Amino acid sequence: MLNDTIIHAERELYLTLLELAQQQPSAYEWLTRLPTWLNAIKDKANYAHAPAYQASVARLPRLTVNNVALNSDVLTIEANLSESQHKQTTALLKQLMPWRKGPFQIGTAQSEDDQAAPIFIDTEWHSDWKWQRVAPHLSPLKGRRVLDVGGGSGYHGWRMAGAGANTVIIIDPSCLFYHQFMAIRHFVGAADRYKTHYIPVPLEALPEHSQLFDTVFSMGVLYHRQSPFEHLQQLKGQLVKGGELVLETLVIEGDANTVLVPHDRYAQMNNVYFLPSVAALTGWLEKAGFTEVRCVDVAVTSIEEQRKTDWMTYHSLADFLDPNDPSKTLEGYPAPMRATLIAKK
Ligand code: SAH
Repeated sequence: MLNDTIIHAERELYLTLLELAQQQPSAYEWLTRLPTWLNAIKDKANYAHAPAYQASVARLPRLTVNNVALNSDVLTIEANLSESQHKQTTALLKQLMPWRKGPFQIGTAQSEDDQAAPIFIDTEWHSDWKWQRVAPHLSPLKGRRVLDVGGGSGYHGWRMAGAGANTVIIIDPSCLFYHQFMAIRHFVGAADRYKTHYIPVPLEALPEHSQLFDTVFSMGVLYHRQSPFEHLQQLKGQLVKGGELVLETLVIEGDANTVLVPHDRYAQMNNVYFLPSVAALTGWLEKAGFTEVRCVDVAVTSIEEQRKTDWMTYHSLADFLDPNDPSKTLEGYPAPMRATLIAKK
């Protein structure tokens, strides 16, 4: 099925990369690979659900959008929404469940007679809380070219655009999250021309030494990687010299030599590899060649920040902690604690 929203997004992505290539020829390599990347996500041999997700995005109604608030905690698309549009939109967005990263709101809070209440996508994660912890410490994003690695639904990517970034490219190999982004983009539409883009690929698929970005984010990804040093090198390769890395990941208490490698699962996740202490992680970044490494935040994840909602009905953090001792995971490891480190290339 032809999908206007995705076609527009692809066109803007091509044009943005073409423009980038005028300044930085490595962007041509991205352009060369782009058809393969964008076709792969449509191929149901790779992603069984892709056609269904695409169809849901394609059927979203066109709304009259009055304002888009990209820099508010609840990422809000103020739009006129009739009762029938409310019903239709909610049903289509629910076909894209589970919604993990957000929150988003579509509609208008003013209650006029013919208007429905806004649709509030109450996501599993309060991603706004993470943004509040990270944003104050960043070199101002205004005018910068930004890469968000493992950007999920794109919530933080939109916030980066809202903070004034010139270009934001989100990458993430998740087929579901890609289509969630497209659903939101469908409504954001013209409010964000040529700014915020999404490429459904893992970091490893990018040309290694692009040196295209002033700021590179990797939030919630490092502990999923089997080779953390490779991940750090790949992040570095995307940065311009002097650019800023923002790294957020799970950490544990300990000294420069403390690293936890969960034997089996960690908080029921079967894809968790390295949980260093802040001191160890600092050492890793330095060893990978970053400078001016600083830890700007450490926070224990609460069951208010990550929880089951109407839009994510599976088990969540509360189910993954020891019921008798919430400072431990079900497996007996320290409960999730996350740190944000900022470093310079
Ligand atoms: N950055 C968001 C989402 C973190 S969830 C946040 O901090 O809230 C981790 C995400 O990383 C998932 O969406 C997953 O699909 C993505 N991911 C996993 N491996 C990746 C890789 N190799 N390259 C890029 N993204 C990856």
